Amino acid sequence: MILILIGPPAAGKGTQAQEIGRRWQLPHLSTGDMLRSAAAAGDSVGLEAKAKMAAGGLVDDAIVSRIVAQRIGQPDCASGFILDGYPRSLAQAGQQSEILETRGLAIAGAIELRIADDVLIDRVAGRFRCANAACGEGYHERFKKPQRDGICDKCGGTAFARRPDDNETTMRSRLATYAAETMPVVRFYEAAGLLATVDGAAEIGDITDAIDIIVSRLPRAISQAA
Ligand code: AMP
Repeated sequence: MILILIGPPAAGKGTQAQEIGRRWQLPHLSTGDMLRSAAAAGDSVGLEAKAKMAAGGLVDDAIVSRIVAQRIGQPDCASGFILDGYPRSLAQAGQQSEILETRGLAIAGAIELRIADDVLIDRVAGRFRCANAACGEGYHERFKKPQRDGICDKCGGTAFARRPDDNETTMRSRLATYAAETMPVVRFYEAAGLLATVDGAAEIGDITDAIDIIVSRLPRAISQAA
């Protein structure tokens, strides 16, 4: 099954994609994570990505689409995957269709997490992550604390980090980018009859359950012909 999770920054896409991925045994492909790894590696793609991310804008469409095309060719994606944060512009939506079509693949559906801007601005202030690069489990000071204070539930790590773009100024730019560039993608999936919308302001577990019901009704096949 190929799923797209779409929504504004800090809507909970990563948290939900991880849990839905666990339930449905689908790898979670986050372009934000891929770009942060590239930025940490410090190559030319990474340096450009770092500057764009810090400003709250979008990294070049062709670069992101190339990274996604490489990632979905890996063996763990053979039965499907969850795309978190891609496509984020109409140009990327076109590139994505091309990438999938040339491989004979089709998406099962797109799930939108909808939530008001002021809630999101408040929310980013409390976000943090496990600093172990192989884990990266997401937490929140109010909504999702580690079960044991200071210890990652998933890997047992004790170091945590905040994203540099999780500040109010960058967040406002990211929200403006979402409205201008990504909302047209949401409308595109809606017009294609592929969109389901979930209330992103609900409790984390309730959102997962709502997404789970939507996913259970979607076709599991990943090929166009099926
Ligand atoms: P995220 O982790 O999804 O919030 O993404 C963090 C940042 O990475 C975004 O604000 C963008 O600068 C960049 N980014 C992530 N996904 C994309 C994408 N599909 N296209 C362009 N830039 C992206």
